[in-house]
Amino acid sequence: MRVLVTGGAGFIGSNLCERLLNEGHEVLCLDNFYTGSKANIVEFIPDPNFEFIRKDIIEPLNIEADFIVNLACPASVLYYQKNPLKTMKDNVYGIFNLMELARRLNVPVLHTSTSEVYGSPLVHPQSESYNGNVNPVSIRSCYDEGKRVAETIMFDYHRVYGLDIRIARVFNTYGPKMLENDGRVVSNFIVQALKGKNLTVYGDGTQSRSFCYISDLVDGLMLFMNSKGFTGPVNLGNTYEFNMIDFANIIISFTSSKSKITFDPLPKDDPVKRKPDLTLAKEKLGYVPKINIEDGLKATIAYFRKKLGT
Ligand code: UDP
Repeated sequence: MRVLVTGGAGFIGSNLCERLLNEGHEVLCLDNFYTGSKANIVEFIPDPNFEFIRKDIIEPLNIEADFIVNLACPASVLYYQKNPLKTMKDNVYGIFNLMELARRLNVPVLHTSTSEVYGSPLVHPQSESYNGNVNPVSIRSCYDEGKRVAETIMFDYHRVYGLDIRIARVFNTYGPKMLENDGRVVSNFIVQALKGKNLTVYGDGTQSRSFCYISDLVDGLMLFMNSKGFTGPVNLGNTYEFNMIDFANIIISFTSSKSKITFDPLPKDDPVKRKPDLTLAKEKLGYVPKINIEDGLKATIAYFRKKLGT
């Protein structure tokens, strides 16, 4: 199958491209390199099944493919807030363009949505039936509301034109090929620990997140691609939940670092807690994440050690 992976040079995208190539698919990787990087895909260039297209999804697309997977949107708080109007355009113009392409080609579209559609959730853990608690006018809204409207557009294409859509709500994911400087907690803490700098816990550090290793997330996306008759939305992630103080201490211990913790101001509208209910993913896709947090973090630490030369 020829798969168009938009955002294919990003963290999740490049890991998905690798899996698709390993499974014998042809990959058309499209990226604008806003947060994606050449380093993430350079190893695939010699593969005749891999092709790269430098383009932005907010421009109309004219590409032939059998399946579309959309990961094209800056996803870290730092980057999606740098140009909030562009982030919204990725989720509105970009999704319209992809859905029009899917309509012309009559092919399925798997879209990566986000746990951010739940906002600062009032139920815990979050299942897909929870409609979320999202502020429409906050500095996070360009991403949260953008991703929500992208889901709406997809469902309307499905209802109006009968298009085959699949929506995965991706929870916090980590692993090799993350950017070292995009402000996410996993990369921040590991890089700080490896450089012997203080780990910057925001707020009082009692807020929680649940972390999923990249190979599990890619497993989930592949299961969803290979499924039939299920639109989602479905949560993909893992249930390893930590507050940020405990998480910082784990990173200090796994890196054997002498770093200490410091407290920095909490970013505005930072959600208090986040953990996926994975019941639907298990029932519909047979998705059960396999990598335990220790193995996942150690592989990620090894990746950053190599990258930083520490
Ligand atoms: N965070 C932190 N220190 C950092 C970076 C992030 O304490 O150096 C916190 C942040 O306030 C949030 C959590 O870690 O509560 C996860 O942040 P991230 O940006 O990785 O993901 P998201 O907020 O999108 O879930």
